[in-house]
Amino acid sequence: MGEEVQVREKDVLGRVIKDLSNTEWWGIPRKEIPWYPQVDYEKCIGCGLCFMTCGRVVYDWDLKQMRPIVARPYNCLVGCSTCANLCPREAINFPSLEVLRKYRDLGKAVVKARKRLKELRQRLFKHDNGI
Ligand code: SF4
Ligand code: SF4
Repeated sequence: MGEEVQVREKDVLGRVIKDLSNTEWWGIPRKEIPWYPQVDYEKCIGCGLCFMTCGRVVYDWDLKQMRPIVARPYNCLVGCSTCANLCPREAINFPSLEVLRKYRDLGKAVVKARKRLKELRQRLFKHDNGI
């Protein structure tokens, strides 16, 4: 949060590629959290939905093999599993929810989220009352 995000280049769809691997997630360096997709190429039919729908440009597309490549695993939003949910062949795997919750607790995400919202509420309340 507040980290410098490098813009590298554009992908074959013209989408801007950012490197989010040096960011933090609730104070934990992103690269220390093993949350990213793994594609089972035995099951994948090369439909392209994962590549086209990921808003973080985690995937590149192999135009020769017509298959997705997990090119930027640490761009994946921790906790997101949209591509896996949409895949028609259930060819995308993620770590278990236990792993996700372990990092949630390690980063004290619940406590921090509540604290931030309380602070925001206090600030807005003061503002509304002209304090
Ligand atoms: S959505 Fe699933 S089947 Fe389609 S390209 Fe991605 S991994 Fe393969
Ligand atoms: S889980 Fe979400 S952010 Fe991660 S690769 Fe899939 S669609 Fe992109």
